Amino acid sequence: MNQKHVVVIGSGFAGLSAATHLAVNKSCRVTLLEKNSTPGGRARKFEHQGFVFDMGPSWYWMPDVFEDYFAKFGKKPSDYYDLLRLDPSYAVVYGKDKVLDIPANLDEFKKMLDGIEPGAGKQLDEFLAQAKYKYEVGIHDLVKRPSRSLLEFASLGLLVDMVRMDIFQSMAKHVRKFFKSEEIIRLMEFPVLFLGETAENIPALYSLMNYADIALGTWYPKKGMHEIIKGMVSLAEEKGVSIQYDAEVEEIEIENGVAKRIRLVNGEKIEADVVIAGADYHHVDKHLVNPKYSNYSEEYWDKRVMAPSSLLFYLGIDKKLDNLRHHNLFFDEPLGPHADAIYKNPRWPERPLFYASVPSITDPTVAPEGKENMFLLIPLAPDLEDSEEMREKYYNIIMDRLETITGQEVRSHVIYKRSYAHADFKADYHAFKGNAYGLANTLTQTAILKPALKNKKVRNLYYTGQLTVPGPGVPPSLISGGVVANEVMKENNL
Ligand SMILES: Cc1cc2nc3c(=O)[nH]c(=O)nc-3n(C[C@H](O)[C@H](O)[C@H](O)COP(=O)(O)OP(=O)(O)OC[C@H]3O[C@@H](n4cnc5c(N)ncnc54)[C@H](O)[C@@H]3O)c2cc1C
Repeated sequence: MNQKHVVVIGSGFAGLSAATHLAVNKSCRVTLLEKNSTPGGRARKFEHQGFVFDMGPSWYWMPDVFEDYFAKFGKKPSDYYDLLRLDPSYAVVYGKDKVLDIPANLDEFKKMLDGIEPGAGKQLDEFLAQAKYKYEVGIHDLVKRPSRSLLEFASLGLLVDMVRMDIFQSMAKHVRKFFKSEEIIRLMEFPVLFLGETAENIPALYSLMNYADIALGTWYPKKGMHEIIKGMVSLAEEKGVSIQYDAEVEEIEIENGVAKRIRLVNGEKIEADVVIAGADYHHVDKHLVNPKYSNYSEEYWDKRVMAPSSLLFYLGIDKKLDNLRHHNLFFDEPLGPHADAIYKNPRWPERPLFYASVPSITDPTVAPEGKENMFLLIPLAPDLEDSEEMREKYYNIIMDRLETITGQEVRSHVIYKRSYAHADFKADYHAFKGNAYGLANTLTQTAILKPALKNKKVRNLYYTGQLTVPGPGVPPSLISGGVVANEVMKENNL
């Protein structure tokens, strides 16, 4: 049979998803090219003397999106990994003696809110009812639209929905309509930080993230987040995707508006009928295609609001730690100045907020017995100057706070330490400005206003991943791969 050869670039969630969706189509033969020696992109893992570190994502939210993904291929997540619901879901640290454990149970959660602000539990019911509606329309419909034309959104029902979906109101205003306590407001605004901007600049549509957080819960795949990638790779291979590692693409060779073949850094050439780029969009647009075929100018890219980069530390600790949960948000400093340092006046923040994950509290397989696996994250503006001295300075700043707040020595028990920031994101993933999470989900970067999933001048070149529709995060990247695969099938009569 005369199959079309689809070449997918990048083995992140989006690339793996696109490749698998197309591999089940009998008219396609799919090759996936990955520059690194292991799969997963930002969700890779590495091991050191019994410590197993997830390199990127650590929050498993929206379990229904993963179920939908595997169900498309007749599978379930449990065919590949075991999920646990975390309880408490996470801890929010406002200060030494002020730590909120967020209960997984909704009634307990409401009781906790009432203890902070009388009546807040009841307010939560209404807040969540709206958020549920947004989640259902948003995640089960809107995000699946390829966003290539406004007409996709033109039905009357959907226009009415847009108003009900709070597209034009900020998340910050929306939350303040329901709650007065600063503590609760920060709690409700936290999930939108995943979307790469502050609540002032994120549409209230994204209170759907609160529904995901509070109603659907925080989950954890045993042995770590990378188990999802492992499962996806095994499914992709079962469906016939041929994956090549250490296969860095140097050029997508285009002739008369048609992508003809891929040239790898090692000189190998691979003929292609369709190319789907799951590598960072800017890298593909500006470095892998002849400039006359770029979708966007450098000026356009410079004006995009990128989601933050991050400074990360992967730590092996030689003892068990006290007073920490699996996920810990250190909100013991005000958000305003740190947000200013990320979005308005890009600089290293004076007093950073940070996040600490200790998965070995839940999962003994990710650290040797009696030891702890810890991941620290400080969100930072993209494109900052990144040096060893800076990394060390911030390590000490957050270690001081971590030790004081949790009341124990940590630094002197660190037996393994690796840092990771802008320069690594660029070297490992060709990340534009060293971004960690792609493009921010602001109103002016939503749906058709995002970088398009198809090249305008090349009839068989498509894009997927966290810089195009529907946006950043693991669930959207999974969905992105499915959306682009549908477009490829439709346009190529496959
Ligand atoms: C530190 C961190 C924490 C995060 N936390 C969470 C979280 O808790 N929950 C959540 O939902 N999301 C989280 N995210 C976001 C989430 O990880 C990403 O949105 C998602 O993994 C992006 O997937 P992707 O497929 O679009 O891109 P990527 O994972 O970056 O995949 C792109 C792939 O393309 C490859 N590539 C690049 N250039 C080339 C080339 N020239 N040739 C061949 N291959 C190439 C790269 O090596 C990479 O493997 C986090 C991200 C980071 C960095």
